[in-house]
Amino acid sequence: MTQSRTIAMTGTSSGIGAATRSLLESNGHRVIGVDLSGSDIDADLSTVDGRGRALDGLLELSGSRLDGFIPCAGVSGSDVSRIVKVNFYGTMALLSGLRPALEAGHQASVVLISSNSTTMIPWLELRHAEAFLNSTEDEVVARFEGRSWLAYPAGKLALAYWVRSHAAEWMAAGIRVNAVAPGVTRTTMTESLPGGPDGKGGLDLIPIPAARWAEPEEIAEAIAFMQAPAASYVVGQVLFVDGGTDALLQPFAHPAPMPRDAAP
Ligand code: NAD
Repeated sequence: MTQSRTIAMTGTSSGIGAATRSLLESNGHRVIGVDLSGSDIDADLSTVDGRGRALDGLLELSGSRLDGFIPCAGVSGSDVSRIVKVNFYGTMALLSGLRPALEAGHQASVVLISSNSTTMIPWLELRHAEAFLNSTEDEVVARFEGRSWLAYPAGKLALAYWVRSHAAEWMAAGIRVNAVAPGVTRTTMTESLPGGPDGKGGLDLIPIPAARWAEPEEIAEAIAFMQAPAASYVVGQVLFVDGGTDALLQPFAHPAPMPRDAAP
């Protein structure tokens, strides 16, 4: 019998976050959710005040003891400021604020939500993700102004690099850190993009061996596995759940070989 866990989540009012919450709760776990509205804590994660409200609420409702954290809140579209602030810096603020509560939890784990846009977009470069990791929020907003098509995958790539570069240190503190990278999934986010379910354009051009978009429940299954003690030896991984697009586009990229100058 699975032991009940207390898991903090964001973005639980819609799409992948709602499906994940529902799956975790049906498995007997307690989820404390944050969203703009309609969850346990209403907070806007694009603002410093909203992040503070979210943190205070999560710590109060959990008694400062969490077994998991899954930040699903995210935006796409043309608003670079919101993309940068919600997807990356909102996630980072909650991650660092919740770390002590996760250290106090049981077999604690974090699952970040990256994206297969990180390996699908030819013009995305390492330096774009590094900007997120090495600059202030305002500097990153200014750098990507007018280029939301780059800001979104760059922020998601930065989340993946954050996982890879922090997994060892967080594991030493008892917290497993991983990410799931979904492909195109049928949610409110994709309904509003060009090439949505009934439209023609960008999203319809993506080659998907599975020949269909994902349902949010299929992404939720992968997230639930990554957060669970069943995945106790999975550390620092970015799991692509994308119907095969990443494998199709770069068959020899994973696992990435050691850089030449780091090889023995
Ligand atoms: P969605 O729009 O259905 O859900 C996103 C949720 O985030 C909503 O409930 C929304 O209210 C919440 N949110 C947005 N801005 C917020 C803010 N400022 N403060 C608090 N909450 C906020 O989208 P989704 O497709 O379920 O996306 C979930 C995650 O998956 C996102 O991080 C997204 O980038 C990622 N993702 C989605 C896809 C896809 O194709 N749908 C693909 C790859 C990655």
